Amino acid sequence: MKKVVKFGGSSLASADQFKKVGDIIRADESRVYVVPSAPGKRFNGDTKVTDMLLEAYEMAVEGKDLASQIAKIKARYDEIIEGLELTDFSLDEDFEIIADKLANDPQKDYTASRGEYLNGKIMARYLGVTFIDAAEVIFFNEEGGLNPYKTQKVLSKRLAECERAVVPGFYGLGKDGNVQTFSRGGSDVTGSLVAQACKADLYENWTDVSGFLVADPRLVEEPETIKYITYRELRELSYMGASVLHEDAIFPVRHCGIPINIRNTNRPQDEGTWIVEATGQKPDYVVTGIAGKKGFCTMLITKAMMNSEIGFGRKVLQALEDSQISFEHMPSGIDTMTVVIHEDEFLEKEQQVISAIHRYASPDSIEIETDLALVAVVGRGMRSASGTAGKLFSALADANVNVKMIDQGSSELNIIIGVRNCDFEKAIRAIYRKFVGSKSGK
Ligand code: ASP
Repeated sequence: MKKVVKFGGSSLASADQFKKVGDIIRADESRVYVVPSAPGKRFNGDTKVTDMLLEAYEMAVEGKDLASQIAKIKARYDEIIEGLELTDFSLDEDFEIIADKLANDPQKDYTASRGEYLNGKIMARYLGVTFIDAAEVIFFNEEGGLNPYKTQKVLSKRLAECERAVVPGFYGLGKDGNVQTFSRGGSDVTGSLVAQACKADLYENWTDVSGFLVADPRLVEEPETIKYITYRELRELSYMGASVLHEDAIFPVRHCGIPINIRNTNRPQDEGTWIVEATGQKPDYVVTGIAGKKGFCTMLITKAMMNSEIGFGRKVLQALEDSQISFEHMPSGIDTMTVVIHEDEFLEKEQQVISAIHRYASPDSIEIETDLALVAVVGRGMRSASGTAGKLFSALADANVNVKMIDQGSSELNIIIGVRNCDFEKAIRAIYRKFVGSKSGK
């Protein structure tokens, strides 16, 4: 059994958090490869080290004096080193190199990546295992995306040489020979790549929550935790705004069927959430998760006899493509078609799009409606349960929410509904109450 364990910034924000992490790793022999983030926030209002580093970079570009900013960052690490009693260990030389680089050749990605690099060095020393610099094993291509082939080849070979190791998250080597980072939260991706490269049995992602919640806790009071969620369900929910894991972290492990277990460093006794390819585990509720986003608009296009006009849809979509606008949904009737689009993307080009649709498809009319929110109700259990839609719409009717659009995915994995922006919170609460709060979805 081989596990890759990734720890987020809040799990490594202080010496006390490091000690919890050490206990977690030592409690299970199979936790062999560790991927740390940079130190995160220790308390509300604190600043993440990555943000402190980015500020230092901005100051360097503006030619400001960096001494106090670098001292503040170093103090974060020194506090951890002292708290762990690593008496013969120091990062003084590393900080000299960083200060020198900032003064003479400031690079944004390099600077941001030092948060993970330095934390990785402390972690390796604390655990007494090998440190592998991510810039030696993770590679980007010319377009700035990951080079998966080279990464897997080099990373798997390097890991095979070390029984246990620490690989800092968030960065690798760019095609130009400089350090390059993933987008924010990218240590999740590193963890996934390490899991793929060593053919791990499990990728544990340790954070500060006990897993993925059925709904956003800012909207629903103490929502239940999801025990099992499939990659596909997670993708639907993440797309609609639910966030726990970096979006790109799914692909490497999904590719080889490695499950991800989201765990809480502060409550290691909790089982957390299992993200899996497929499962026979019965979901507790018909609905696995509810998520949504505001800020959409619809374009209602009408034309008599639209149903018999071959190519009408293509012409409308061509008009959108010409303006580089992607559409979210496209429910249609006999003589009508509605296209749901992101409001901010659309509004600046609306007249361009409308005239193009007239040119290509000669509709009778086009109407625009703004201030729409989309709510995704996702659940693999919906396929085998009857009455889900009925229950959903009665929940919304009881809450006096007017449903503006309905779209059921053909996989029967999700139902998307459009409601007015002002009804968004009310809709999510009503759906949650109906399916989970009352336990009637069981
Ligand atoms: N430290 C980086 C960030 O704050 C990457 C990460 O934590 O995954 O985004």
